[in-house]
Parts: sequence; C-alpha cells; structure tokens
Amino acid sequence: MATTPETRLFINGQFRPSSTNETFDLPSAKTGELLAKVYEASAQDVDDAVAAAKAAFPAWAALSPYDRGRYLVRLADLIQESTKELANLEAESMGRPVSTYFDATAGSKYFRYFSEAAYPQGSSSLNTPGFVNITLKQPVGVVAAIIPWNAPLVFFCKKVAPALAAGNAVVLKSSEKAPLTSLYVANLALKAGFPPGVLNVLSGHGPLSGAALASHMDVRVLSFTGSNRTGRLISKMATDSNMKKLVFELGGKSPAIIFDDADIEAAVRETQFSIQLISGQTCMANSRIYVHRSIAESFLERFKVAFTSARLGDPTDPAINHGPQADKIQHATVLRYIEMGKESGTLVTDEQSASGLYINPTIFTNVPEDAQIMKDEIFGPIVIINPFDTEEEAIAKANDTEHGLYAAVYTKNLDRAMRVASRLEAGTVGVNCTSPTKGDDMPFGGQKGSGLQRESYLHSMETFMETKSVLIKVAGL
Ligand code: NAD
Repeated sequence: MATTPETRLFINGQFRPSSTNETFDLPSAKTGELLAKVYEASAQDVDDAVAAAKAAFPAWAALSPYDRGRYLVRLADLIQESTKELANLEAESMGRPVSTYFDATAGSKYFRYFSEAAYPQGSSSLNTPGFVNITLKQPVGVVAAIIPWNAPLVFFCKKVAPALAAGNAVVLKSSEKAPLTSLYVANLALKAGFPPGVLNVLSGHGPLSGAALASHMDVRVLSFTGSNRTGRLISKMATDSNMKKLVFELGGKSPAIIFDDADIEAAVRETQFSIQLISGQTCMANSRIYVHRSIAESFLERFKVAFTSARLGDPTDPAINHGPQADKIQHATVLRYIEMGKESGTLVTDEQSASGLYINPTIFTNVPEDAQIMKDEIFGPIVIINPFDTEEEAIAKANDTEHGLYAAVYTKNLDRAMRVASRLEAGTVGVNCTSPTKGDDMPFGGQKGSGLQRESYLHSMETFMETKSVLIKVAGL
C-alpha cells in the first residue's frame, strides 16, 4: 500500500492504541499477505468510547441542525476528495475492484444530504378538551453502529450521517475484515473539526467489542448491518441489557422473476451484474432467478456468456471487474456450497479453475426448492436459474424463503408487474430493474428475517430519534 494506514482506535477525538495493546492481523484479500496489524478494542475501550459520546452529546444536540450540518458537509467533501485512496484501501483489504467503486460518491452523498435534510417535525393536537398536546422529536443520546465488511464506507455513512444530523453522538464498530476504511474516515472527521467524542470509531471482533456495545447500558439505539446469525445474538443482548432500539439490515436470498415478454437483453445484463458485483458479496444480489419456461433456455445461454465474461484479477487494476472473495473463510464457504449445488442441481458453468481467493462465476439450474443452496445466503458469485410455468408458481417460489430483502420482476405487462410486486414478500421490489438498488430516498430494509426498520434519506433520521408526547393543560380552553 502507498501509505501506512491508521490502525489505532478513534476515541474522544484522538487516535490511540487499545487499552490492552492487543492487535489482530488483517490479511490482504489481494495477496493473502499481512496488510496491517490493527488494534483490537477491548470492553474497556467500548466503555471509554461510549462515555466520550455520552459526554459530547448534550453540546452536540444543542447545536442547530444548520450548525451540525456544517461539519457534515465538510466531511462529505473530504470523503469525495479521498475517492482514490478509499477505493485502493478496499481493493487491498477486501478485494473490491476499483473499477466498480462508487462508494465514496454514494457515501459522501449521505453526509451532504443529511447536512441539509429537513429535521423531523412533531405534531400537535386539540382533540382533548382543555389541552393543547404536542409531540417533541428528540435525539436519543448515544447511538451505536455495527457494520459489515462488504461495503464498509457506504454503511459507515448510511448510519453515521443521519445519527449525527439528528443530534446524537455515535460509537461505530467496523468489521474485523475491513477496519481500515472506517479509521480513514475517522481521520477525515478529525480534519473536518468534529467536537471530540461526537464520533468514535472502534475496530475489533464481534464477540468482544461488538457484544460489549450491544450490551451497553448507555447505548440507546443500535443500528446493525450484517448476517442474520449475528442479528439474533445482538437482539438477545439488546433485550437482556436495556431494551435499546434496534435497526437491523440483514441478509438476503433475493429472487428475480423473468416473464416471457420481458426485455431479455436488459434482464440478462442487469441480473448478471447484480450477482457478479463485488464477487456476489452484496446482501441484495439476485441469487435466485426464475425464468418463464418458454424463454428459459435462451435466457440461460445469454446469461452464461455475460456472467462468465467477468474479468478476474487484481482488484486495484481498473480493467478488472471481478476480485477475490474477501477472505479465506468466505472463499472456503462458497466452494462448499458449489459442491452442495452439484449434488442437488445441474452445474451449467465449467468446474472451478480460479486460484487464490477467486471464484469463477457459477450457474446452477434445475435446483429443487428445498435444496440448501436455494435457502442459504451464499455470498459468492453463484446463481441458480430455474424455470417456471405460471405467475402463481413464480410468486410462490420467490416467497419460499425466510429472507425478504429485495425482489425483482421483469415484464412489459404493467398489470402483471403490479400484481406480482404487491405479492412479493420483500422490502424492495424492482420492476424491470434489479439490485443494486435505485432510489436513495426510498425506504430500504427487509421483510421477514431480513431486518427491522428502514433506512433511507427520508427515513433514517426518524429511527435515531425519540418521540415524546407533551400534554399541556390550558385553563379556559
Ligand atoms: P457478520 O454478521 O459476521 O458481521 C457483521 C458485524 O457484526 C461485524 O462488525 C462483526 O464484527 C459484528 N459481530 C459479529 N459477531 C458479533 C457478536 N456476537 N456481537 C456483536 N457484533 C458481532 O456479517 P458480515 O459477514 O460482516 O457481513 C455479511 C452479512 O451482512 C451478509 O449476511 C449480508 O447479507 C449482510 N448485509 C446486509 C445488508 C443490508 O443492507 N441488508 C448490507 C450488507 C450486508
């Protein structure tokens, strides 16, 4: 890497080693070699960060939204100016190709938007005789954010920007697989002049610092993006401690349904991009595709050509669009699912030939609905393309999952599109489009096991605020 990355914790406006001085090794997804030794936050560091946030909260909350916004917009500019450095950091550490890196633009847009976003307003009521009743919208205090590794900058910005804009102080814990981006942005926040303690950034493993945050009595809202398994653990910790409010963005097994009247070329191009992006490591990737039997064969042929033309290689090379899986564990998991797939369905693509942590784009067809690769989120460039005969059957199959993050339907028939969209059990449905999602002002989140609450430009600030009813008795009214 060109410059030595920051590896210390960011607490109360300062970078410092962890209280135990312990570090963990961060290997490069690109080379497999040691990229950095990163400080591992202890329970003591979590306490310190939460205490710093709690102390910083009153003065930060007392600022006007405009004055808080001035810090946010400075950070937005600094993130945008650092696009190249951030892209390289993520390419080196988790294999994200620089050619598909739109995260700095997306991330800085969050800070820019929330620097001027309308502050949520309360309501008033004259419906109780003798009273004027009002609601107050107030920040909650200390917000914790726990984020995954697959798009660390986006999740940092998506959570931190609205939480700060709403007047809260934040403690963010990054993923142990991708801690460098968050520390880089902490440094930018320092440059932007945020008051000490308003934003704190910790690195480390989930069961240690993540669990300490989830159980902390002074954290009032916890916004988590990650796996369903971790979501369940955090949910229990939150309940067993102080009933902190939870925002969960969890995993997916997103279906796309392609009807016989669809624009096949667009459907192929977009569905293969969805599952190929970041080597299949996105929560909303359409990993199950149901195609009307009359066009299934031709769709499969075209999809195979598009999907297998991915350019595998060094993610820092702008000509490459398919990087390695993020780490050895991820790589081994995906290979295991490919073996399972061969037992339950038909492998359409060639046997794996990629070396290192790379996985060749892989297609299965005729996979039974109850097969494990149909049910589990694999998080790799693996797609199942099954035929269907009727609209009813396609909807039933698409909904036959515990996940409900994203779904897509391709058809030129508007009545059919809207019938299907209204019956798909997903937080977002794309009509003649698929993930990655469009429409930043639309609520994003999961139905069923894929999440709790919604995040978006318009909805996020609300989740970081309390609503208080104030009942005012008025003599003579
Ligand atoms: P993960 O659940 O393993 O880890 C996510 C975060 O939780 C990390 O920071 C980790 O350190 C922390 N963590 C792990 N165990 C913990 C514990 N016991 N207590 C507290 N914190 C703990 O997930 P991951 O592998 O980093 O990310 C991939 C998952 O995230 C996939 O399931 C993917 O679908 C999901 N995801 C969802 C969205 C969405 O918007 N719905 C977006 C991106 C990723």
